[in-house]
Amino acid sequence: MFIAHLPAGYLGACLLIRRTAQARRRLLFAPFVLGSIFPDADMLYFYLIDRGRHLHHDYWTHLPVFWLAALGATLLLALILRSRALALAAASFVGGVFLHLLLDTPFAGIRWLYPLSDHSFFLVTVPATRSWWVWSFVFHWTFLFEIVICIAALAVFLMRRRRA
Ligand SMILES: [Zn+2]
Repeated sequence: MFIAHLPAGYLGACLLIRRTAQARRRLLFAPFVLGSIFPDADMLYFYLIDRGRHLHHDYWTHLPVFWLAALGATLLLALILRSRALALAAASFVGGVFLHLLLDTPFAGIRWLYPLSDHSFFLVTVPATRSWWVWSFVFHWTFLFEIVICIAALAVFLMRRRRA
């Protein structure tokens, strides 16, 4: 997925805060949206350091087990500090990360069972039909899902703005 992670994160955050008290909304909204795009920050490493030698979905940023461990450690810290705000923000951030991983799964693959298995789960293989791999994804029929998500997020954004 290329362009729809942020719009999907926005939609997810809107759903998350829908029935949440006003005071907690800011603890949930921004961390969820940030989490929904954070795993692809590994593209900086992919291009600048790794120079494309490994698929960026093989980095720790795209491993569910890493995020579960990070959430567990943060919740433990929140318990020690007696900080409900930290616990909520961390859970929301990791919720956004898991939305990202779910959306990456069908067309690019995620190793959901790592370290028990190295198998990458996916539904559709996008063949390399263009010289630059990004165009192969953009001109594949699966990109229509990204467009639908973007349109839905724009519609929700405009409706919320009209209400405010
Ligand atoms: Zn990703």
